[in-house]
Amino acid sequence: MEVGRIIKVSGPLVVADNMGDARMYDMVRVSESRLLGEVIELRGDQASIQVYEETGGLGPGEPVYNTGVPLSVELGPGLIAAIFDGVQRPLNIIKAQVGDYITRGVDVAPLDRDRRWQFLPRVKKGDPVVAGDVIGTVQESTLVEHRIMVPPNVAAGKVVDIFAGEATVTDVIARLETANGPVELTMMQKWPIRKGRPYREKMGPHVPMITGQRIIDTFFPVAKGGTACIPGPFGSGKTVTQHQLAKWADAEIVVYIGCGERGNEMTDVLLEFPELKDPQSGEPLMKRTVLIANTSNMPVAAREASIYTGITIAEYFRDMGYSVALMADSTSRWAEALREMSGRLEEMPGEEGYPAYLGSRLADFYERSGRTVCLGGGGREGALTVVGAVSPPGGDLSEPVSQATLRIVKVFWGLDAALAYRRHFPAINWLLSYSLYLDNVAVYFRDTIGEKWNEMRREAMRLLQEEAELEEIVRLVGVDALSARERLILETAKSIREDFLHQNATHEVDTYSSLQKQCRMLELILDFHHEAARVVEKGEIDLDLEKLFTLPVRERIARAKYVPEENLADLNAISRAIKEQIAAVSGEEGDDDA
Ligand code: ADP
Repeated sequence: MEVGRIIKVSGPLVVADNMGDARMYDMVRVSESRLLGEVIELRGDQASIQVYEETGGLGPGEPVYNTGVPLSVELGPGLIAAIFDGVQRPLNIIKAQVGDYITRGVDVAPLDRDRRWQFLPRVKKGDPVVAGDVIGTVQESTLVEHRIMVPPNVAAGKVVDIFAGEATVTDVIARLETANGPVELTMMQKWPIRKGRPYREKMGPHVPMITGQRIIDTFFPVAKGGTACIPGPFGSGKTVTQHQLAKWADAEIVVYIGCGERGNEMTDVLLEFPELKDPQSGEPLMKRTVLIANTSNMPVAAREASIYTGITIAEYFRDMGYSVALMADSTSRWAEALREMSGRLEEMPGEEGYPAYLGSRLADFYERSGRTVCLGGGGREGALTVVGAVSPPGGDLSEPVSQATLRIVKVFWGLDAALAYRRHFPAINWLLSYSLYLDNVAVYFRDTIGEKWNEMRREAMRLLQEEAELEEIVRLVGVDALSARERLILETAKSIREDFLHQNATHEVDTYSSLQKQCRMLELILDFHHEAARVVEKGEIDLDLEKLFTLPVRERIARAKYVPEENLADLNAISRAIKEQIAAVSGEEGDDDA
């Protein structure tokens, strides 16, 4: 291949000529330091190259080497528990080799070449195989079985040789005879990051991803394979929410992409994430996590690559038949990188300087989510759920990145600074947030919990909306203007907020609620409401509302969140107490005697 020549350097953008051989998104090596770059624009024999390392000191005349292949990731054993940067350099390994600061142009293979993995074959000589078939497994961590698959671009064929035992990712573990000739397979495959991995079929989003977070599961559920965004100002709980999802969501694999802006933000993730424990097994969460982190000494352009690197790795685990949750924090930083590059390319700017293709780039990313039937025989199903955090400056959702994201994703968990300020956590605003999966997952909830779940959700949401309207009246004319029935609505809504929606991520029991528990908790609150409404409707003139609202059973309803999952039957006693105590205060007991 011909060697290009740098003609211009502008921050992370390098323009080179003599690049006639190059194609879009080819990976190139810039200068003798062999800095990693990617072709992002071609004009004649001139190529604009996004460089993923510091370009300081580069100048015109220096060489550019085209590798002729698109920027790709390595997929195979060694991904789990790794910490990669945006271009899949293994930060944990590099740190061990060269210390905290990555020197420019370091070339360390993403997957460890020396490590030996115990390969257990699943096919035998003579077996027919197609792309996507699992030919063997490796126990990659105590929590993850890595399924070694025939890569998507290999034609159908049959196994001529299959290995068993210890091998590295580059050792040949199988030989196939295919329609296109003989093929040797290793445990590692490569895939270009900007291209979605193929699957057989996409399925509808009918199964919720249970997170154990009450406001999410009950009111704004995300479907497995669905998309959600969490926009919120600084300090409103994006990080805590993402960590809660990583820990508790019923996904087998977690991919966390941190495109932090300040170095320390990212360091937080690097320090905090390895500390998190997987609640089911007690093992470190990292044993089923892949972390992508841009370090502070990488230029912003690398954020772009990290988004694609992360989602490609996530797709690969989905191909194995896993349910994968991908968290991107924050997509605003990625959009800012796009804006910077676009500016340097002197493209026509769109809104607030973001490129006109911002929306389509975001859409391309979120569209790689989904519940799929994987390639290969056997009809394996996988799911990739994508949750993107957005950090709008000043919390203003009218800015372009929030707006473009909201047009794409189906769930919106709107974090609210005012709620966070009042220490109502998770600070997800119940009046602004929405989930467009409610209808899709209603059948699942009906079948697992019962139709009452959907009814209770509707009723609780209606009470919260009525509360907002009534509060408006109270602000104008005072609480005395309200009828007893309206005051009861305010009281119940308060109970929904404080006893149900409020959930303390740091409390041992409260941090997670099963669907059954969520259902029982809401049921208690609504039971009280219905019983109380009945006596209020009867219009007892001397009914003391204060007394009704402060019955001892209210305290028990409020504390239901602290009842451990194994003691849920204890909540039945509260149901009985509700009936008894309300009957007593309303004088109904006396009626019965008469
Ligand atoms: P952000 O990432 O949006 O800047 P954080 O996720 O760091 O905000 O949250 C800020 C603080 O809010 C946390 O340190 C914690 O004290 C509190 N917080 C957020 N969510 C919860 C929660 N679900 N339970 C308890 N505390 C929370």
